[in-house]
Amino acid sequence: MEKLDQLYEGKAKKVFKTSEPETYWIEYKDDATAFNGEKKGKIAGKGTLNNEISAILLSLLKEKGVENHFINRISATEQVVKQVAIIPIEVVVRNIAAGSLTKRLGWEEGKALPCTLVEFYYKNDELGDPFINNDHIEILGLATESDLVYIRKQALTINEILKDFLLRKGIILVDFKLEFGKTPAGDIILADEISPDTCRFWDLRTKEKLDKDRFRRDLGNVEEAYHEILRRIGGRVDV
Ligand code: UDP
Repeated sequence: MEKLDQLYEGKAKKVFKTSEPETYWIEYKDDATAFNGEKKGKIAGKGTLNNEISAILLSLLKEKGVENHFINRISATEQVVKQVAIIPIEVVVRNIAAGSLTKRLGWEEGKALPCTLVEFYYKNDELGDPFINNDHIEILGLATESDLVYIRKQALTINEILKDFLLRKGIILVDFKLEFGKTPAGDIILADEISPDTCRFWDLRTKEKLDKDRFRRDLGNVEEAYHEILRRIGGRVDV
């Protein structure tokens, strides 16, 4: 398979066409951004770490029956995925209050939610990814009501699988963001990445943050935290 023209460059990844039909090539970058691109930096080795962490978690989900775009990892920083058109909705799933939810509800960080919360944000950099509801999604024509029912159900299933798996590795899954895409056949499948860039992971015992909050809040040891996640989920650390 050959890597062809670049289709898109995002904040953390580049997407290329390939010589194979319905197949894209993704390159994970070391670039890190936060606060809607206002804070910019690099995390050494992040591309390699997120490529591997995401590959492990997407493979786990596939094994458990959650269809997703991951095909295989082809180099330290690259993976091959199924072609999808990304639905511009960021689906956030939360188990514990953190980040923007603490501001929205006035809750303390770390407070357990009485039930799992699923939120939708409009994936639009110019608007700063605003919080939206089902009606906004219908008005914007981003997805149908039945698509949303399916996406919400998948998001909750993914949460259960990841939460249980991570807990066994001594990691609390606080919250995370998912993106879904449509295949050329019209099926909706999980896409994008699942990594410390897109999830909040806390150490079960110490509650230490092992994710991008270390970069957002200048807590130091960012790369070490990503390494620790990879080590605990069984990846090769000498990448
Ligand atoms: N998240 C993400 N990309 C975004 C916004 C949020 O991956 O553009 C993830 C974030 O890492 C966290 C979860 O979604 O795991 C919830 O984020 P939140 O709404 O609390 O926003 P933040 O505090 O990250 O600005």
